[in-house]
Amino acid sequence: MMSDESETTRKNGRNLALELPTPVDRIDSLSTEKTTLFVKRDDLTHKTYGGNKARKLAEILKGVPREKTIVTVGAAGSNHVLATVIFGKHFGHVVEGVLFPQVKTDHVVSNIRAGLSQGLVIRKTSSLLTAGFRLLWALLSGKFVITVGGSNVVGASAYADAVHELAKQVEEGVLPRPDAIVVTLGSGGTMAGIAVGIEELGWETDLVGVVVTDPPWAAGPFMRRLASSVARFRKVRFTGKRVRVERGYRGAGYGIATEAGDAVMKKAHAAGLHLDATYTAKTFAATLDLVASGQYENVLYWHTLSSASKAPFLEHAPELSAEWKGLLK
Ligand SMILES: *Cc1c(COP(=O)(O)O)cnc(C)c1O
Repeated sequence: MMSDESETTRKNGRNLALELPTPVDRIDSLSTEKTTLFVKRDDLTHKTYGGNKARKLAEILKGVPREKTIVTVGAAGSNHVLATVIFGKHFGHVVEGVLFPQVKTDHVVSNIRAGLSQGLVIRKTSSLLTAGFRLLWALLSGKFVITVGGSNVVGASAYADAVHELAKQVEEGVLPRPDAIVVTLGSGGTMAGIAVGIEELGWETDLVGVVVTDPPWAAGPFMRRLASSVARFRKVRFTGKRVRVERGYRGAGYGIATEAGDAVMKKAHAAGLHLDATYTAKTFAATLDLVASGQYENVLYWHTLSSASKAPFLEHAPELSAEWKGLLK
């Protein structure tokens, strides 16, 4: 009976119009004689706001009762919080963001402003720990809580599905089966889902997650636990034997650019791929090093940053008032 109820709430008829399958590009200019580089273009998952959060939220939002207030959490300029506001608003939800301070960059400021333009209700907090209390309170108040990065079992499971989408593209000859996949490891949902998807297919593909968050030792174990939960949810086995966590590209911390990241950003741009300093430049630096190592014949970089323009959101967005400046370090 419990399952009946969750079935009906999961089928609330809400479908985010994802643009699937996302394309796969071969990047000849950054390939070598030994290794061919491919890119899974998840920047294009949704016309309004792409990136990896759209796939996760498409599934998560199916389970949110109508008109319920959504509460989620992240750093001040979180792409996940912005995505939740944009898609939540689309389905008529008020979205509250429990935000903790982040190093100030143009990206962070424009994300906060874009969120405010879409009705984001900001709940300022000092750290991830105090954010936890806020979320607990929200849960007790009957609001719908979405965890950091949308990395719950349902959100992460969307990335296991995404690997099946990739497998279909392999079958169709769009790309060969990749020998290695490289993805950013933040809150871990994306990597956990991909890890489970790879095992479901029985692929002998190594999965490299590039840590970008603080503290650097936490991301790997969290992701592995989440992957086990996703596997249980999907009723499959998970060993994690092909999963590798790479901590060497994070630099001084979350949101702080690295030289290696800046250097590859220019190369990627020349190849038509736009990266950001917080997540994707660090991951792409690791990807190009893996390509240069010549260990694999085919490497797939799974791109996670939205390439949709934020201009429509910023056009009527308020300037940041003194009240929100405390969110910037
Ligand atoms: C959130 C995010 C990630 C990290 O994904 P997780 O599932 O949280 O690990 C990577 N890249 C971009 C651009 C993101 O916004």
